[in-house]
Amino acid sequence: VLKGTGHGTLPPMLEQYVALRDQHPDYLLLFQCGDFYETFGEDAERAARLMGLTLTHKSSKDFSTPMAGIPVRAADAHIERLLSQGVRVAVADQLEEPGSGLIERKVTQLLTPGTVTEERLLSADENFLAAVATGDGYALALLDVSTGEFRCASFGTRAALYDDLARWRAREVLLAPELSGNAALLADFQARFPVMLSQASFDEAQTQRELLDTLGELPASLNSPALLRACGAVLGYARSTQQGRLEMVRRVSRYEPGAHLRLGDWALRALEVFSPQTPQAGAQGTLIHVLSETRTAGGRRRLRAWLRAPMRDATSIGARQLALQALVRAPDIRHALRALLYRAHDLERLAARVATRRAGPREVAALARTLELLPEASALLEGQEGLLGSLAQRLGGLPDLVALIRAALVEDPPIRIGEGGLIREGFHEGLDALRREATAHRAWIAELETSERVRTGIPVLKVGYNSVFGYYLEVSSAHYAKVPTDYTQVATLKDRARFTRPDLREREREIARLEGAADRLEAEVYNELRDALSQHAERLSEAAGGLSELDVLAALAEIAASRGWVRPITTDGPLRLSQARHPVVEQALGERFVPNDVLLHPERRTLLITGPNMAGKSTYLRTVALCALLHQIGSFVPADQAELPLFDSIHTRIGASDDLAGGRSTFMVEMSELADILHGATGQSLVILDEVGRGTSTLDGQAIAQAALEALHRVGAYTLFATHYFELTRLEGQLPGLCNLHVAAEEETGEHGHLGLTFYHQVMPGAARQSYGVEVARLAGLPGSVTARAAQLLSGLNAQGDDGQLKRELASLDLSKMTPMDALMLLQTWQREARGEG
Ligand code: ADP
Repeated sequence: VLKGTGHGTLPPMLEQYVALRDQHPDYLLLFQCGDFYETFGEDAERAARLMGLTLTHKSSKDFSTPMAGIPVRAADAHIERLLSQGVRVAVADQLEEPGSGLIERKVTQLLTPGTVTEERLLSADENFLAAVATGDGYALALLDVSTGEFRCASFGTRAALYDDLARWRAREVLLAPELSGNAALLADFQARFPVMLSQASFDEAQTQRELLDTLGELPASLNSPALLRACGAVLGYARSTQQGRLEMVRRVSRYEPGAHLRLGDWALRALEVFSPQTPQAGAQGTLIHVLSETRTAGGRRRLRAWLRAPMRDATSIGARQLALQALVRAPDIRHALRALLYRAHDLERLAARVATRRAGPREVAALARTLELLPEASALLEGQEGLLGSLAQRLGGLPDLVALIRAALVEDPPIRIGEGGLIREGFHEGLDALRREATAHRAWIAELETSERVRTGIPVLKVGYNSVFGYYLEVSSAHYAKVPTDYTQVATLKDRARFTRPDLREREREIARLEGAADRLEAEVYNELRDALSQHAERLSEAAGGLSELDVLAALAEIAASRGWVRPITTDGPLRLSQARHPVVEQALGERFVPNDVLLHPERRTLLITGPNMAGKSTYLRTVALCALLHQIGSFVPADQAELPLFDSIHTRIGASDDLAGGRSTFMVEMSELADILHGATGQSLVILDEVGRGTSTLDGQAIAQAALEALHRVGAYTLFATHYFELTRLEGQLPGLCNLHVAAEEETGEHGHLGLTFYHQVMPGAARQSYGVEVARLAGLPGSVTARAAQLLSGLNAQGDDGQLKRELASLDLSKMTPMDALMLLQTWQREARGEG
């Protein structure tokens, strides 16, 4: 059923459905039928499955097809659900009121995960659509249609491209045919990025036309065919989903990936910057969560952007640090700013809606409320230098749009245009005149009651209104005799009758005409207002960006001040942290967190950390990486004193992140991560390795771990290596610059004679003495019988190691006096001992 058009056998409405659907084959079409959006045929089956709807049937005389629908007023929730499941949605609305024939319908919205702009369908976070093309290297274009943010970069290697794609978390990706056509590459891409892939034109001529149309020029920064194609493809696709409107996109900024600290996908995950490593852990376990002191949606997006692109130049870092310091030292200003930001709406998105002339009355009112805050913010920053000073300028000096909006719009406007009650009195003369006239007619009607009571002598005569008859005069049955001859009866109720009069009818028609005209004029006036605002779109988005940045600075300053973080000093080599804390673990543990010191410099560039499981090795490693990351976004860091160099990249290999779904063994995953690190690390890198070599036999693992350590040592990267291979600790002395550390733990005899372990979480010089594995297993709740047996095996193994004992026994035997049976018996005893059988 319902395959293709032109059967001529389908009912006309379904013909229309199929025709619209075939225009948008990649979309699920929602087709308005009165109060419902319907889907039919196989689409209905799919829709029912995706949205959990009941499947019904549309039947006529000789035709029946599956049908599933959702109420129009509940559509948003369903559409959101579809988008989150990676389904593109086309919405076909009725363009006219139902009449006798087939209703005209048109696709009014195309919604895809990467291009929605409707506030209600968006999360507050950024929403990037990406395009990738190749040529001389790889080109990436990223567009957030909801804010107009448009950026691009080119990359020498696929690994660098992947790093950035991961860092921007595009929700939808367009791949040029040279990429999507390569099956192996496509499979690799899909394994790494489980996002929606969509089709767009990467044709050279067409993409250039897109760029010209939207930006008015081919920006000089797009200096390669691949960049031009990627940027043009993103615009073309976005335009098709926005019904041609892309005014929010005004410029493209090309960024240099190398200008940022490189943070691979694995590092972002291992450091739990945006999401916890294990989903059960919950969002509280992430860095973004403990930094979420921003007060606006724009600030939140900006903070995420900063974390994705930490800086590498001391000047930019210093500028942010100075701004933070000023805000840390002026709590009054900081608090006032934060109180003010709390009242701001999402100015970046409002600015984008204004630019495309899509903003509804409520949005324009929200815009005014937010713009009102800007002069206040600007005034609070008065006299500040540097970044804060330039922010004060960005926020001040907007033309008085608030006055314009306030003068035009009523205080609390309706959601929709064209239903009246939108434009304030006194704003538009023509509108006021229409309203005055209508009011005069209404006043005449209101007076009618009194004047007719006098004229007719009917004391209970009433003027009323209902939507069927319009205005009427109501008389109760007791007074029928007094009804004058110019009244015409329109309705009879049990004990009353309703009448009208030609002049009343006339007034009524006039009121309707005037109100209709006023509503239309109001919509026109509103559109003019919107046009006037869109003239300032650029300034608005500039101010919006300033407000977001101010929000992040104020948030980071608040964190620094309330949690006792310090301003790090940027060095040209040494790394010194005193009393450093892990920002996330510290939030969870509070006072119980044990701070630690860290020291790295070229002559002490590899730290080998041993100690029992659960002692705090991973936490120590991550503390260093997180402090480095925070330093390079310009933030203060959780320590009493901090000196940090500028890293070019942070590499991590932490924990056993199984990639079972990808079908790769833990060991394979581990080794491919290690391979990336060894290829990518430089003398300016920070490398964090936790328990490398675990997924294979001890000897293999140890050998690989040592070889990797040696390689990193040669490169000169700062490396922190946590391991349970105690044999590696003897590398101290062999590899200059390698230093043993251990995390303190103490054995003590507990209540039942069990050995217990006390963790001090204190990192100390030197190697640990032993691994305490069995002890930790007992703490973790392994049955007593199992841990006892393990301890026994362990001591057996240790005894075996003492083969001097065996040799001495052998040497003392007098074989000439032994029978074969004696020898066998002795062998059996030895074997029992070796097996730990006593
Ligand atoms: P390891 O890597 O040695 O197995 P972790 O770093 O995973 O140990 O730490 C285990 C637990 O110990 C953490 O979940 C945390 O609760 C606690 N911990 C770690 N470091 C500290 C610290 N410095 N102060 C207090 N508790 C800590």
